[in-house]
Amino acid sequence: DHVANQIAAGEVVQRPASVVKELLENSVDAGSTDIKLIVKDAGKTLIQVIDNGKGMNVTDSRLCFERHATSKIRHAEDLFALATKGFRGEALASIAAIAHVEMKTKQEQEELGTHIVIEGSKFVSQDVAVLPKGTSFSVKNLFFNIPARRNFLKSDTVEFRHIVDEFERVALAHPNISFVLYHNGSEMFNLPMANQRQRIVGIFGGRTNEKLVPVNESTEIVQIQGFAVKPEFAKKSRGEQFFFVNNRFIKSGYLHHAVMAAYEGLLKDGCQPGYFIYLEVPPNTIDINIHPTKTEIKFDDEHALYAILRSSVKHSLGQFNV
Ligand code: ADP
Ligand code: MG
Repeated sequence: DHVANQIAAGEVVQRPASVVKELLENSVDAGSTDIKLIVKDAGKTLIQVIDNGKGMNVTDSRLCFERHATSKIRHAEDLFALATKGFRGEALASIAAIAHVEMKTKQEQEELGTHIVIEGSKFVSQDVAVLPKGTSFSVKNLFFNIPARRNFLKSDTVEFRHIVDEFERVALAHPNISFVLYHNGSEMFNLPMANQRQRIVGIFGGRTNEKLVPVNESTEIVQIQGFAVKPEFAKKSRGEQFFFVNNRFIKSGYLHHAVMAAYEGLLKDGCQPGYFIYLEVPPNTIDINIHPTKTEIKFDDEHALYAILRSSVKHSLGQFNV
């Protein structure tokens, strides 16, 4: 029903960047190796994501817009072993409730694909179409039916910055996928398949390379990989600070504190180091379902994690920065 859709939509979709995040994560989940993001007017006019993933058959291409119809939580234990990023099964239903959405999708083994137009939760058309393998979502006129939300949006500069933030997070989490981002017809990012280090440099520029110190640690409760920025390159502003847990971007004040503790005595006053830390933990030792946008996470053994992270970063800084 439309009212429920619009209410839920407001929780999932706060701004154009929320749509970008959900669409990009869906494309990643679909096993894509190549993902294009095309944006106009900071997403206020158009957000399009084109992937080469597994696509959907006719039935699923309609069902994917139904709330929870495609939720991946099929068994209770899935809640505790959340392997894929999407799990609530309501992002597309929410987006379709508050925008004009056009979807084109085709699976490899099918000869023809499906083209669906849905506006404010109403199916406008559904056709058979000649399409390449993969899926394309176009989201136009976001919040067309919630003027208060539309008026609440910030300037294009601010909204586009949020989009870039989401794009960078997904691109950093998946260096083995190629990504491009166009804004108003200009190519803003072009990131070929890469390793972690190359991906970081691809996003933040060639001069980043010399600033990075590798961080590596392997214990029973966590595997840590990634890079910390040498203390002499720390900035007055927050700089680039990223944690990924099981290939998902997360925010953690607690883990940030652990990294800061590793830099103790190495930073000039008020300076903040950059870092790109990838943690792998057993899925049953974390709880991701504590925040609707899933950027926060709870660890079973956060004290141990803190200690391991602090000492591994500290060790790396000591080794590479004498
Ligand atoms: P969730 O990702 O939480 O399952 P969504 O509303 O984001 O919920 O997506 C619903 C479903 O639509 C997904 O579970 C997936 O089966 C399908 N889907 C969405 N985007 C894509 C895509 N780009 N390629 C293939 N399937 C997709
Ligand atoms: Mg999803």
